[in-house]
Amino acid sequence: MTKAKKPELNYEPKNCWDVYTSKKDLAAMDDLAARYIDFLSQCKTERETVDFIQEKLLAAGFAEGYAKDRAVRVMRGKTVFLARRGKRPLSEGVRLVGAHVDTPRLDLKQHPLYEDCAVGLAKTHYYGGIRKHQWLARPLALHGVAVKADGTTVRVNIGEAPTDPVLTVLDLLPHLAQGQMEKTVTKAFEAEKLNIVLGHAPAKSKKDGEKPKDPIKQRVLELLHEKYGLIEEDLFSAEMQVVPAGPARSVGLDGSLIGGYGQDDRICSFATMEAFLTSTEQPEHTQIALYWDKEEIGSEGATGAKSLFFEYCMEDLLREWEPKTRLSEVFLNTKAVSADVHGALDPDYQDVHEKLNSSVLGYGPVFCKFTGHRGKVGANDAHPEYVGWLRGLLNAAGVPWQMAELGKVDVGGGGTVAKFLAVYGMDVIDFGPGVLSMHSPFEVSSKMDVYAAMLAYKAFLES
Ligand code: MN
Ligand code: MN
Repeated sequence: MTKAKKPELNYEPKNCWDVYTSKKDLAAMDDLAARYIDFLSQCKTERETVDFIQEKLLAAGFAEGYAKDRAVRVMRGKTVFLARRGKRPLSEGVRLVGAHVDTPRLDLKQHPLYEDCAVGLAKTHYYGGIRKHQWLARPLALHGVAVKADGTTVRVNIGEAPTDPVLTVLDLLPHLAQGQMEKTVTKAFEAEKLNIVLGHAPAKSKKDGEKPKDPIKQRVLELLHEKYGLIEEDLFSAEMQVVPAGPARSVGLDGSLIGGYGQDDRICSFATMEAFLTSTEQPEHTQIALYWDKEEIGSEGATGAKSLFFEYCMEDLLREWEPKTRLSEVFLNTKAVSADVHGALDPDYQDVHEKLNSSVLGYGPVFCKFTGHRGKVGANDAHPEYVGWLRGLLNAAGVPWQMAELGKVDVGGGGTVAKFLAVYGMDVIDFGPGVLSMHSPFEVSSKMDVYAAMLAYKAFLES
């Protein structure tokens, strides 16, 4: 870690590659990146990510419930709350980081299976903001759960093991695409054409020689039954998610970038988890980390940030640790970070950014004072008092950071969980690394930004 310097009159952003130059820093960065690539490769759904985090925390001595000073609580396998008790009373507030563990993808419909033109297929309904053409003609995997009528949960994972077959969505050949190419992108790629190829070989005829009605669909069902014991009706009570197949990778001749699916927002989930795990055992303030589901579809549902799960956790925590303190007092004194990614300046699409207020890959995690769209609609606008405090904190810790907006005014916009934390009256701001190709099947981040983000979250949690 470098020493904080006397502030310059002019602001100059710092490139992490010029800051973290010591052998120790570079080795720590590489180690962290290797663990991150492994995490990204293993965790492609909210459930897989929650399981991973829960397992790591339990192994590190955290326990279910609030009897101990280190707590883990999972909600329906899709959202998780972590807490580590601090030296100061809860009435002085907590240090909270919130990230999300859901990612854009193709979900199987409840009636998915059919066959057509000698191919077995599955219908999908996309989840979150995808650009549909990015999901065509590439290897895909099926991750999910199906709950049988007797309550048994079956985990499904097809397409990740090197010996597994993969799945795919077909695309139109250029020879016959003239009509499609004259359409606008939104019209050219239809959601109802995002069907997953699941099979081709027909099921064998029955003993009496009678052929099954849809032999290819029949074979697909037989295979699902052989491998997972599933019947067609089980798909009604299932969450089957189609995601890009294969592991995350280093990118670039120098391997200095990371490419993989779901970095929005697993880069923050990972960096905050690492910061939480490696933090001092006796921090000043109680530390809390929250990993929510459903951010990509508006934070709805029992496991999203609009739900009351966080409040329930805090009520129980308060009852166990400090029963005389009022919840509102804790919330009003809390400092929070909405740990979510930022859209970094893309060398090929610089025109959608306003350069003075955009973020650059490798320059550290990005503060986004407000999100929203068209006149800051729907934004949490962080208080300058809080931004000032955070600047002081990170400058003292020597961690590079940036201040940016998502893109040019009126070009688009987006939202995060920040506003759902702001309703409690706590200080909150969006803060996370920039990524390129955001929401695509292969998002790109800087190894340096993962490292700097982890150090920044750690400095925040330990403040
Ligand atoms: Mn996000
Ligand atoms: Mn997103």
